[in-house]
Amino acid sequence: MQMLKEIEVSETETEVQTSRALPESLRALERLSWNYWWSWAADGAAVFRDLDPETWEECEHNPRCVLREVSEFRLMKMATDPAYIARVARLADTFDHYMNPETQTWARTHASAITHANPVAYFCAEFGVHTSLPFYSGGLGILAGDHLKSASDLGLPLVAVGLLYHHGYFRQRLRRDGWQEEHYSQIDTERLPMQLVRDDEGVPMLIEMQLRGRTVRAQAWRVEVGRVNLYLLDTNVESNDGVDRLISGHLYGGDRETRCVQETLLGVGGVRLLRRLGVEPRVFHLNEGHSAFLTLELARELTTAGRSFAAAAEAVRARCVFTTHTPVAAGHDEFLPGLVEHCFGHEYIASLSLTPAEFLALGHIKATDGTDLFGLTPLALRMCRSTNGVSRKHGAVSRALWHELFPGRTVEEVPITSVTNGVHAPTWVAPLLRALYEQRIGPNWDELQCDIECWAQGVARITDEELWRVHHLQKQLLVAFMRHQQYHARLQRGESPEVAEAALRAFDPEALTIGFARRVAAYKRWSLLLHDAERLMRLMTDKERPLQFVFAGKAHPQDEGAKQILHQLVQWKLNPQIIHRAIFIQDYDQDVARQLVQSVDVWLNVPRRPLEASGTSGEKVAMNGGLNLSVLDGWWPEGYDGTNGWAIGDTTLREGETSDEDTCDAESLYQLLETQVVPAYYERDAQGIPRRWVQMMKRAIATLVPAFNSDRMVRDYTQQIYLGGAE
Ligand SMILES: *Cc1c(COP(=O)(O)O)cnc(C)c1O
Repeated sequence: MQMLKEIEVSETETEVQTSRALPESLRALERLSWNYWWSWAADGAAVFRDLDPETWEECEHNPRCVLREVSEFRLMKMATDPAYIARVARLADTFDHYMNPETQTWARTHASAITHANPVAYFCAEFGVHTSLPFYSGGLGILAGDHLKSASDLGLPLVAVGLLYHHGYFRQRLRRDGWQEEHYSQIDTERLPMQLVRDDEGVPMLIEMQLRGRTVRAQAWRVEVGRVNLYLLDTNVESNDGVDRLISGHLYGGDRETRCVQETLLGVGGVRLLRRLGVEPRVFHLNEGHSAFLTLELARELTTAGRSFAAAAEAVRARCVFTTHTPVAAGHDEFLPGLVEHCFGHEYIASLSLTPAEFLALGHIKATDGTDLFGLTPLALRMCRSTNGVSRKHGAVSRALWHELFPGRTVEEVPITSVTNGVHAPTWVAPLLRALYEQRIGPNWDELQCDIECWAQGVARITDEELWRVHHLQKQLLVAFMRHQQYHARLQRGESPEVAEAALRAFDPEALTIGFARRVAAYKRWSLLLHDAERLMRLMTDKERPLQFVFAGKAHPQDEGAKQILHQLVQWKLNPQIIHRAIFIQDYDQDVARQLVQSVDVWLNVPRRPLEASGTSGEKVAMNGGLNLSVLDGWWPEGYDGTNGWAIGDTTLREGETSDEDTCDAESLYQLLETQVVPAYYERDAQGIPRRWVQMMKRAIATLVPAFNSDRMVRDYTQQIYLGGAE
């Protein structure tokens, strides 16, 4: 009780500090700043930016921070600016309409069985909602963030559960010698749009569980993502043992034990939190295996009420669905059996009416002698009524990968389906292009996202000139961004002023620009491009038709091989002949990703097949009219139609038919660049417009937007998975 009082007191102080009284004409900004809806609303980010552009940058685009830090003078200037007042009012009106429960939505007519009392509970270890909320590492988190936004836009009742990480994911800096350095920042909960969940008496809600033989308490924070609430569990409360407070420390930063404990917190703690909130989910969606322990907690609720484990598991299966994201066995989360037993404790295992051996067998691929690792994917496969991969191809790969778990069935009969990933258009489309879509597709272009016919007709109304103009402006913005970023990065790492200033002349907005940004991991084959460095150099330094590259990506701190790859690339681009034509942007995050995908001409993707489960960055590029130059893996076999981008690799060869896939793919990549990509880009008419290129851009938009947006994805999940199965 003593402890609760202390938290209460400090929270009250916090409230006094943070709620600064805004002038009446701008009061709506307070309300808007608490809901991430602003981040994908038309003019939303711009309204907060224009309040005070400098503070906006200092605050890393976090409106809560801007409202606190903006000077009184600046605030009053904007509060008396009629044009600005009108923009704020318009944004607030749109928000109120959006949040009004009476507003008609897709889910009201198509998914009325999913209700606020019985919503979808969406569990994930990471959520990439916005750069200011650093609780994601890459694709999985960004996908989860986009899922929430589309669920919100579609009016689908959904609550999300994840973990709060006080140090987030690591941030990347490159040293002068090209080696990556990692550092962690500390989030400031007072400056973020997160509110502590409280009970009816206003006391912060605490859930309790046994972990590693100790009682651990967790509080929960609520983040509003449009109509969706995202709850983040946090063990950094005073009554916890010091070690247990660190569970909410780093995303994917700790050792195996920390990871196991984090995942137990997510699964077991997440279910207990929903119970305390009075939410009775119709479906639990396990987005990747990290949250698979939730199925055990649901089973325990039933076994402690007297059911056998088998009967409990049957009931759990009826309400749980699982999405797997990894196409290789080694990529799946696994723990030493002793570690899992240690985390849960014997009392918990006994309360499931299981012997330790039976318990451990739930995580085995084969029910063997108990020496196997405990895998979260086998657990999820056993305890969920539905499993899906994230592209058609990944579905097929997953059926083969987990075949052993389904004895007596052929690979084709393995019950793993697929829902192909999509991305949230209002988040990823550049404002300038969005304005063009509003004109040519319709003011409600985002609600028409899945309508193929609509996009075909709408894109036909876009003129070559206007599309090229928008794209060209975006490229100028990209070049300015890169120069700015590079200039400051060089100064920061102690380069001479001359070297730093040279960055301000790097890159050419007229040159063909290729983007390559992704996690630095062996299977992504960063080095493929450098397979024949001289041939590449010829392309880049061509006097008439040059080629330039922008790179970004983080190497996992413990992955020495990946760091080596990065180092090699950074060394390569220091070659004076190409130093102005290759830039590495450090600290790849959602913001950097947005800058790149909105502006590049071409997006390169060369994973080793079949290791790209889906990939989503290429989908973001296509939405902005960029062209994909990619190996046929992940989502691209479903997207590529011969007119809307390029496919790398000998498409007549079947997988595994060549012993030297790298050489084959590299040859194909260079050939495509030399004979297709470069000629099409530089072939201009009298007005300087590359007509053939613009045709391809239009084909990409018309064919790929309706198929690879996250509204389509969430609709598919709803109709094929959430509403399916027993109930
Ligand atoms: C979209 C995105 C990803 C995922 O992209 P891939 O195509 O899977 O590489 C990763 N990181 C960030 C920051 C993104 O925005």
